[in-house]
Amino acid sequence: MVIHSPQKVPQDARPSRSQNRVQRLANTFDSQRSVRGGNQDHCQQACLKQRNRLEFSLSDFAPHSYSLSFLLRKRSMNYVEHSETGPKAPFALILAYCRFRWTVPVCLLLLSHCTAAFVGSIAAANDFQVGTGRRVITPNPLLPVSGGLGPTAPAREKQGELMARAVVFQSQETTIAIVSLDLLGFPSVLGDRVRGRVPRIPAKNILIGSTHTHSAPDCYGFADGRGGHTGDLKYMDLVAVKAAEAINEALDQLKPAKLKVATDEAKGKIAYNYYAPDLYDRRMSVIQAVDAADKPLMTLVNYAIHPEVLGSGQGIVSPDLIGPLCDRIEEQGGGAALFMNGAQGGMITADNRDLSRPKDALRGVWHDDRTWKECVRIGHTMADEALRIIHDAPVQANPAVFCGAVEIKFPVDSPLLWAVVISSPLKYPYNADHSITARVNVVNLGNTQILTIPGEALPNIGFYLKRKMHGEHNLLFGLTNDAFGYILTKVDFHSFTRYDYVSRTSLGEMTGEILIERSLEFIEQSPKPVRITP
Ligand SMILES: [Zn+2]
Repeated sequence: MVIHSPQKVPQDARPSRSQNRVQRLANTFDSQRSVRGGNQDHCQQACLKQRNRLEFSLSDFAPHSYSLSFLLRKRSMNYVEHSETGPKAPFALILAYCRFRWTVPVCLLLLSHCTAAFVGSIAAANDFQVGTGRRVITPNPLLPVSGGLGPTAPAREKQGELMARAVVFQSQETTIAIVSLDLLGFPSVLGDRVRGRVPRIPAKNILIGSTHTHSAPDCYGFADGRGGHTGDLKYMDLVAVKAAEAINEALDQLKPAKLKVATDEAKGKIAYNYYAPDLYDRRMSVIQAVDAADKPLMTLVNYAIHPEVLGSGQGIVSPDLIGPLCDRIEEQGGGAALFMNGAQGGMITADNRDLSRPKDALRGVWHDDRTWKECVRIGHTMADEALRIIHDAPVQANPAVFCGAVEIKFPVDSPLLWAVVISSPLKYPYNADHSITARVNVVNLGNTQILTIPGEALPNIGFYLKRKMHGEHNLLFGLTNDAFGYILTKVDFHSFTRYDYVSRTSLGEMTGEILIERSLEFIEQSPKPVRITP
């Protein structure tokens, strides 16, 4: 089902005593829309803009404008289903309002005032705003490091800081937060704690992703084999508090901005597929917001990679290569940096192979360089590539913003993952039919479309989804809103011996098919991003 998330109605926007009259006016507005009919694909942003401008105009002088505004907002709650207003609709509504309320002379005065305000609002239509915030989430004292199911390693030191990094995009009535956490994964039950602390943004518009560093504390509450678990509940709560603080800071820092987006092959020794070296997505997508003078305010890097240079076995708490990546972008003037992972499952990993030290020549396996220096090398290579890729991207002055969300149900066939679900101290929500429900977001930013994945999709799924999406740039945010293991297609599931591990730690054989089908169905129901290339 389509679920759209408009902003909440402000407390002061309540129906007045004139509600019945205003209700009739809103009906007029609706009939205008239905008579015109039209194409869902291009109409929604226009509908929203027309309505916003009308509200802005009326609120200056009409005594019942808040009532009218309230009803119009209610009408637009489900506008994603089907809606359109032609360019004359606001004026028709104003005239209807006048007929009901005032005499003709007052009405004419009102209309002239409205027209001036309407034109004024068009002139000042560049209302795209961006804000950023961040918090350190390194535990103090340090906590054991988790690389997934199984025993943790005691922490003896840290390299870099674990961070919660947030960016907020706002345009018209739509506000979206994107949060990146330096953690292996962050389940929805914790994400909802974050959302509960950010009342200014609809919960479904808050996208929370994990970088998938393998050098951070357990935030799942994995069973420890002794009747307990390997998580620290106080730490998990602290992360939720800090992530919410980062988003709220980003909201407080909102400022006018323009958008740049670019995609290109990231060159250099960055990543490879551990299972099949050349089968991975070399594309890096970069989103950058710039100020009026084109100075970068923030840079988001989207790329598929396991940040496991250090790995979980060394007892080092670290963001792995993501820390140096973000630090470098910020040092180079890219503004606040954050990283969102892609379809990095089975098994797209950091290329920290020491090619001078073969381990198994027949199978093409080398020893790994598991040092902080290697994290810095790969992180800096990615940062330099990201800044190169984004440098000459066209500037989008007032990008339209859309955020939709759909809940997708996945059967849990894996005994291992079902045990994680039902035994975690976090009390994951699950369904009576042995399934879980995960949220998937579709976001349009200007000419760009973003789809979230609640786990670790294999690269073939990533390629397919990107190919079917509608942006000039198509980004996948993996491990976002939830992180329920690997996501394979049914033909890959338990096929190769090499895939035994990723199949065992997947929800089930149909997980990939369900994700693809439902996500693409939702994409087809959502508005398409604009195109800026001729
Ligand atoms: Zn992984």
